[in-house]
Amino acid sequence: MKVLSVNAGSSSLKFTLFEMPEEKELISGVFERIGIENSFYTIKFNGEKIKKETELKDHKAAFELLVKELINNKIVESLDEIAGIGHRIVQGGSYFDKTVLATEDNISIVEKLSSLAPLHNPAAVVGLRAAQSVFPNATQTLVFDTAFHQTMEEEVYLYPVPYEWYTKYAVRRYGAHGTSHKYVSMRANEILDNDEARLITCHIGNGASISAVKGGKCVETSMGLTPNAGLMMGTRCGDIDATILPYIMEETGMSAKEMDTALNKQSGLLGISGVSSDSRDIEDGIKNGDERCILAQKMYVKRIVDFIAKYYVELGGCDAIIFTAGVGENSISTRMEVMEKLACLGVKPDEERNNVRGKEALISADNSKIPVYVIPTNEELMIATDTYNLAK
Ligand code: ADP
Repeated sequence: MKVLSVNAGSSSLKFTLFEMPEEKELISGVFERIGIENSFYTIKFNGEKIKKETELKDHKAAFELLVKELINNKIVESLDEIAGIGHRIVQGGSYFDKTVLATEDNISIVEKLSSLAPLHNPAAVVGLRAAQSVFPNATQTLVFDTAFHQTMEEEVYLYPVPYEWYTKYAVRRYGAHGTSHKYVSMRANEILDNDEARLITCHIGNGASISAVKGGKCVETSMGLTPNAGLMMGTRCGDIDATILPYIMEETGMSAKEMDTALNKQSGLLGISGVSSDSRDIEDGIKNGDERCILAQKMYVKRIVDFIAKYYVELGGCDAIIFTAGVGENSISTRMEVMEKLACLGVKPDEERNNVRGKEALISADNSKIPVYVIPTNEELMIATDTYNLAK
């Protein structure tokens, strides 16, 4: 069965087509600048990458073009071969703890949750509607970034603010990157041959979050009501003293919207270094002795270590620490610095093993009390797997 994994943004559409249950990736790509000028798309298959510029009026036009490419490149003979389409949804609120069919009732809840994810949920619904019209016979599913974190206990997900903020405005911790945390924790359980493993999964990309997982269930996660919680990230501040906001707003006359931009787009590695949000640029800056890059990296690593320590206690020990996503899979120095700071927990890095990028690997020494792994994430495959299980 062929299953398409879809991630729709307001002007973009990412896709990966899998042959399931073989988990074989057939083709992937992204349509960009949908509905604006200079739109284009790139597709990757058979080890080739092709970029084409073309008008993309809307998401439906993108799906229609995708069908043409699939048929022209003999990946499918007819679009009916695509039996399942899984849609990534950022915010599922307290409503969804697993992947569900895209029924009208479920879609209306996704729309209702738009106030919690104004940039993402409406765009995902636009993508879903377009997919429904182009692939009317496929089973469409909704795969939520928040679902994996729904197993958190009340005392973990509530904030110590007036209780009515929760009951009236749904203010609580939802977490994000759930599909990735679920994927790497399932893989870690396989590697460890232990379904009850206590794991600390570190999804460190441009956005970053850490989860404590026990027996395949999320116990705690660092992102909150929104993805701007927990760790210091590329451009997001993560956890800070909340009262900094009214203080700076009063001092500077900044609006709530401007504050939101400052905390989400001008903070983190970029805000401290003044150079870049990208770990590679920070690493270059450090090599050149840039003081602010050195400081930014120290703060960044400190926060990762803080969360690992916290979750170690929360889990009552740890059977493995997992690094994934852009920085986690590729930044040898960030992983090394984190592991070195965990020496008191008995973590011992292995320099040679850690010299790896983008590949599954054990990166700790044999006598490390906690094994540390790199496990490349594959959210697209997780979406396809859930969709296959519902469609088959
Ligand atoms: P997101 O999905 O949140 O946009 P990714 O998980 O793709 O992010 O991570 C992107 C980030 O990964 C980049 O911003 C960069 O900081 C980091 N990254 C990618 N490659 C490398 C590398 N070779 N060394 C260090 N960091 C890297």
